[in-house]
Amino acid sequence: MSGYIELLNTYREGLYPKSLVETEQAAFALKRTGETDVLVVAGEEGVLSQFEGNVRGDVKVCPLDHENRLALNRFLSYTKPRAAGRAGISIGFGDRLGCASCAHLSAIEGRNVFPILAQQSKRELTLTNRTYEDVLDAAAWSVFKAGWKTGYGADGDHLKTVEDIKYALDCGYSMITLDCSDVLREVKGQEAATAYLELPDERRKELEKTYLENSFSELGLIFTEEALQEIAVCFLPAVDLVVNVYQTQIETRPRNIDLEISLDETSFTTSPEAHFFVANEVRKAGVFVNSMAPRFVGEFQKAVDYIGDLDAFRDDFTRHVKIANFFGYKISVHSGSDKFSVFSAVGELSEGRFHLKTSGTSWLEALRIIAQEDPDFFRMMYRNALAHFDEASTYYVVHCNPGRIRPLDSLTDTQLPEYLEENDARQLLHITYGYQLTNPEINPRFFADMKKFEREYEEVIWKHFTKHIDLLKEKI
Ligand SMILES: [Zn+2]
Repeated sequence: MSGYIELLNTYREGLYPKSLVETEQAAFALKRTGETDVLVVAGEEGVLSQFEGNVRGDVKVCPLDHENRLALNRFLSYTKPRAAGRAGISIGFGDRLGCASCAHLSAIEGRNVFPILAQQSKRELTLTNRTYEDVLDAAAWSVFKAGWKTGYGADGDHLKTVEDIKYALDCGYSMITLDCSDVLREVKGQEAATAYLELPDERRKELEKTYLENSFSELGLIFTEEALQEIAVCFLPAVDLVVNVYQTQIETRPRNIDLEISLDETSFTTSPEAHFFVANEVRKAGVFVNSMAPRFVGEFQKAVDYIGDLDAFRDDFTRHVKIANFFGYKISVHSGSDKFSVFSAVGELSEGRFHLKTSGTSWLEALRIIAQEDPDFFRMMYRNALAHFDEASTYYVVHCNPGRIRPLDSLTDTQLPEYLEENDARQLLHITYGYQLTNPEINPRFFADMKKFEREYEEVIWKHFTKHIDLLKEKI
């Protein structure tokens, strides 16, 4: 090795030990100075010149900005996101705060889970005033800080347009979740039959030959003429969207990209026949899918456990897993935070091959820290959440009724964390995150608290996700 690490050692105070790394040409580490973290680099001039910062003796001290993150990516490849592939378990850890990723990594250490650390939807970007660059910067710095060298992913989540997908991929994202909900329209009976007849003859003939002249009984699927018409009318626009995105954005790039198809953001469940139809049609067009998210039976609402019949979920999930296995991709479960009652079934029935998306739960755990450590501020945030509930509930489907929540004034300071155990309060606090993080009075104090109580936060996240992963792996 180059010996540059010795130069950083002279600058040792405040270094995060896991970040310290040496290459042939340089040594790098993350260091805490006061309330902020900086990158410190010692090395050859050719390396130092690629980072913006101030030279102090033999060491360059650099801010954690976007340009320096890109430079770090060039020297330390593990700080760049990469595709997860189709095997094993991957978990999406959406981090709306840009400060939870180290805690997420500590929760999966030694657990054989591939982390998707950057994972934001357009809705989340808009509500938090962040860009895809910001989100990926935060994830990459966390990976560096934690010394996480086994890979991580970045998901342009629930994107609907070629333009947005191009933007995420140009930023270096390794995964795209293509949300097909805008082109899906449930059509039944005679209306479907009429719309089906408007399809070109050739396409109809091809579909009828594929689905009506073959048996799919080994997958438990039955295509009647009526079912085929309804599925084709509803799902062909999604097939066309997937094929277009794949051909123009995915296969043209010289790197592996995980493509997930999301059919889940609809008001109707995805039948196994419809799932198979979409997978089969895109496969015929040469599309290589990494994972598929159908809408399962029951409800996957934000911040609360699964709502519905567990046996029905097991049956439905089993049928979808069979299809995923047939095509060789992972089954994906969205809104996966806190769905404790279905986790062991997800792990068992998928035989340990699935993707699970979580997001808002890390925000709620941050609020748990605020409730415990800064009760006056929590009260201020709670009032702000109530004031914005009506607006926020236009973005999310929740059963929350604020009228059922115990009034703030009736709780003592030590009781405030109890809100994080109650479904109505959890959903209220969950969906109003944008109105907190973009509030000029709340934002600075919130992030100052998060920095101050970094260790406490890491502990609650570790505990919370360990509970998730223990159950997911319970029967594998
Ligand atoms: Zn979804």
